[in-house]
Amino acid sequence: MSTLVVVGVQWGDEGKGKIVHLLGHQADLVVRYQGGNNAGHTVVFDNQQFVLHLIPSGILQPGTDCLIGNGVVVDPEALRDEVRFLKGRKVRVKGRLHIADAAHVILAYHRYLDCLREDRAGGGKIGTTRRGIGPAYSDKVGRAGIRVADYLNPDVFRPLLERNLREKAPLLKRFGSLSKIRRDVWKPYAALRRFLRPYVVDGPLFIQRAMAKRQKILFESAQGTMLDVDFGTYPYVTSSNPVAGGVCIGSGLAPNRLDEALGVVKAYTTRVGEGPFPTELKDALGEALRQRGMEFGATTGRPRRCGWFDAVAVRSAVRINGCQWLALTKLDVLEGVHPLKVAVAYRVGHRLIKEFPNDRQMQSEAVPVYEEIPGFYGSIRGITRYAQLPTNARRYIRRLEELVGAHFAMISLGRSREETIILDSKFPWKP
Ligand code: GDP
Repeated sequence: MSTLVVVGVQWGDEGKGKIVHLLGHQADLVVRYQGGNNAGHTVVFDNQQFVLHLIPSGILQPGTDCLIGNGVVVDPEALRDEVRFLKGRKVRVKGRLHIADAAHVILAYHRYLDCLREDRAGGGKIGTTRRGIGPAYSDKVGRAGIRVADYLNPDVFRPLLERNLREKAPLLKRFGSLSKIRRDVWKPYAALRRFLRPYVVDGPLFIQRAMAKRQKILFESAQGTMLDVDFGTYPYVTSSNPVAGGVCIGSGLAPNRLDEALGVVKAYTTRVGEGPFPTELKDALGEALRQRGMEFGATTGRPRRCGWFDAVAVRSAVRINGCQWLALTKLDVLEGVHPLKVAVAYRVGHRLIKEFPNDRQMQSEAVPVYEEIPGFYGSIRGITRYAQLPTNARRYIRRLEELVGAHFAMISLGRSREETIILDSKFPWKP
């Protein structure tokens, strides 16, 4: 029995999907513990590409069960579409997918509110995906949320919905009258309720039973630590806690039962949406990384902002998550880039700062202090042994380890699982 969380230690899109897929075959159960269908894990295997937004990528491993934990916000329509997509690709879902009854649901008015907020925000835009995730979490914390268990029970659901509609209708005029919005929720309701019911379980109990059977459980985060609502670049963050600490809140696992945290980190940095990004490259090199790394959002197609590796941010994320081990991804994208730069500190005004600041003004004014490392040349894809990597690639890897304070357990050099170097380490979940 053992438990592992795979957590992003940058601004998301680190390549967690591939790593979870790589490790997932050992897991009996893969659990999502936060976020909604704003995430987009891309997994490539057998020459097929799967993009999953809500269902844990463990569903692609035939012997693995998946749980959507209580910390996730579930859009029943989006979930039904994803289940249909998987069935269309011959992936069995029934009996393998489970949804915690305490997860909150996203309804039509949450999506409308999300659009309204983004359109009104002007310069203060967060850059959300407009899928209603933020408003659903706001309702949850504001004690107006509707949980899966409530949604399944029409006698409970109806009055909760009416109360929410009454409160929100004045804000939602742009999207139609109160009765139109009510219809938007009710029209698909009966079918969605029938669809959801067979998947629903008591999440913490489900996990506890898996533990009692000595099963291996992998928890997968969506987004990354720098987008965490508490530890990220607030307010340009997601509405939940991707950090390892979020596992317990978002699934019901007891805190003393989480064994390992594996941080996933890209060999450079990307961020989607607005907000501080000290090492951003707004030049031709940034564009080249975007093209080579195919840095376009899996959910929205939005171009990702690209920049140098930020060891200040990653060091802070490693500490918050308690990562002893990391997976380095997309090293191949840096082929032929010379010199490579890594931010080792920031300058803010006259001050030299070595730790990631929480002050939003400091975050936006931080100017990176770079260390240069010579680049490596030639194709590294297809290399499966660390010793075969060019010397400068190894220098880069070792320096990153020193700077962020954790060891690499694996290095990814391409999209498929074969394009991975497994390092000789004590990391207990060997791929
Ligand atoms: P996630 O949300 O953290 O899972 O990240 P995404 O799936 O949004 O983005 C990762 C993208 O990079 C996907 O298209 C992956 O197939 C791809 N990818 C993952 N690892 C590597 C790698 O080592 N090299 C390259 N070139 N692409 C990779």
